[in-house]
Amino acid sequence: GGEVRFEGVSFAYGPQRPILKEVSFTVPPGGKLAIVGPSGAGKSTIARLLFRFYDVDAGCIRVDGEDIRDLTQDSLRAAMGVVPQDTVLFNDTIYYNIAYGRPDATPEAVHRAARLAHLEGFIQSLPEGYDTLVGERGLKLSGGEKQRIAIARVLLKDPPLLVLDEATSSLDSQAERSILEALSEVAAQRTTLAIAHRLSTIRDADNILVLEQGRVVEQGRHEDLLTAG
Ligand code: ADP
Ligand code: ADP
Repeated sequence: GGEVRFEGVSFAYGPQRPILKEVSFTVPPGGKLAIVGPSGAGKSTIARLLFRFYDVDAGCIRVDGEDIRDLTQDSLRAAMGVVPQDTVLFNDTIYYNIAYGRPDATPEAVHRAARLAHLEGFIQSLPEGYDTLVGERGLKLSGGEKQRIAIARVLLKDPPLLVLDEATSSLDSQAERSILEALSEVAAQRTTLAIAHRLSTIRDADNILVLEQGRVVEQGRHEDLLTAG
């Protein structure tokens, strides 16, 4: 499973300005779509609509053929793993932050996810700000480290559909490469929708959607887009 289909999706946050204009695309099960385009083009809005933070104004979004308006919030969440731009941490250890919502996960599985996301060293630590409660010294986590926690969560969840919202944008290129490797283990068999602004992130995409001012202006494989003027 894991097919995603946008059918003529239009959307505006308010009455004034349409943000997405008849956006259509299909990601087949296991397919890898990268969405690229300038800031403000509407890329993150596509992800928000897919999670049903908002409903479309026109058109339809389908996951495995089902209109997402007919799915429960629970089944929609179960189908997706999200690596957001800003990861919100819970008031507990990194271990708990990875295992959150996964009561069935074994310690081995949590440690494995942490290892793949290069977080092993501080799995029992508390994030800075949550430490005063227990009188321990917490860790100051960079944006990249928080993203790695989100990545570890996704590795543990292993959902049919992965949504990466500039998932590696705050990592340096060395860290980015090793994280992409870890993710590719999950992504290999999963449908992936990656919002990206760097070419390195979309290397593995089999379809690239170029979005400008809410419209799909180009769509194709990497080499097609590079050879097109
Ligand atoms: P991208 O991810 O391509 O940078 P976004 O989808 O975040 O673009 O935003 C597209 C447009 O929608 C931008 O012009 C942005 O200002 C506007 N926008 C985003 N979120 C909201 C919101 N909650 N309310 C109103 N406008 C928004
Ligand atoms: P769960 O604990 O339910 O398995 P996940 O961590 O896999 O949650 O995330 C799935 C849900 O998280 C999505 O359905 C969405 O509601 C929410 N979510 C997390 N981060 C974001 C984000 N940046 N943008 C939109 N949705 C997000």
